[in-house]
Amino acid sequence: MKVHEYQAKEILGRYQVAVPKGKVAFSAEQAYAIAKELGGTVVVKAQIHAGGRGKGTFTDGFKGGVKLAKTADDAAEFAKKMLGNTLVTHQTGPAGRQVQKVYLTEAANIAREYYLGIVLDRAKQMNVIMSSTEGGVEIEKVAAEAPEKILKTWIDPLVGIQPFHARQIAFGLGFTGEAFKECVKLVAALYKAHEDTDSTLTEINPLILTDDGHVVALDAKMAFDDNSMYRHPDIMEMRDLTEEDPLEV
Ligand code: ADP
Ligand code: MG
Repeated sequence: MKVHEYQAKEILGRYQVAVPKGKVAFSAEQAYAIAKELGGTVVVKAQIHAGGRGKGTFTDGFKGGVKLAKTADDAAEFAKKMLGNTLVTHQTGPAGRQVQKVYLTEAANIAREYYLGIVLDRAKQMNVIMSSTEGGVEIEKVAAEAPEKILKTWIDPLVGIQPFHARQIAFGLGFTGEAFKECVKLVAALYKAHEDTDSTLTEINPLILTDDGHVVALDAKMAFDDNSMYRHPDIMEMRDLTEEDPLEV
């Protein structure tokens, strides 16, 4: 079962993973009110169960499912253009997905983008944490063109994540000083969230370094083991049937 970015960030926030503030809106009016409340520049993000939104195009020609809005009026305008519209990305297929909600979130000043993901390595029967300095791009592309730029850290399920694993990753990404410490904390928190929730995929792309030196999860994707959902009624509540194949539902 997949959840939306805003829901994944809510879950990760419970584990003290650093995420920017934000709220979901179902109408342009709500988007306006939330943008006012957040203050300053906000980002309006289409919520669909697919990635590549930033570079996506709506079927009416409107470009981009991730938009920077300098004012609350602009935020409302973007929300109006996105809501009810169909967004096509490299992950949706040509039919695209209809946008029913948008996420309003604080705009970050990005110094650098990284990739951080946790997935089950079935062959090794272990979770693997993948990290790369090539963030913001599709990891499949990095894996195909520059596999040496992906650091893989396998976690033995019987031992669990250890502090040295997180330090190895923060070091591999080139962090130093306070940012190094923040990255170590974030990796440990992300792994705990992944394990506790029976996640099969937890992906932060991009993880960012802000221009004032903080490490933040700017995007979040989570998918869960369907067979474990009886243990997680709170996550089950996040299920969005409109995003699933009607025949299977
Ligand atoms: P997707 O992966 O679906 O395209 P992302 O959330 O990764 O969506 O957003 C795409 C890009 O937009 C990011 O790589 C980042 O450069 C920019 N972006 C996203 N959220 C913010 C934000 N809150 N502040 C500033 N830039 C952002
Ligand atoms: Mg992304």
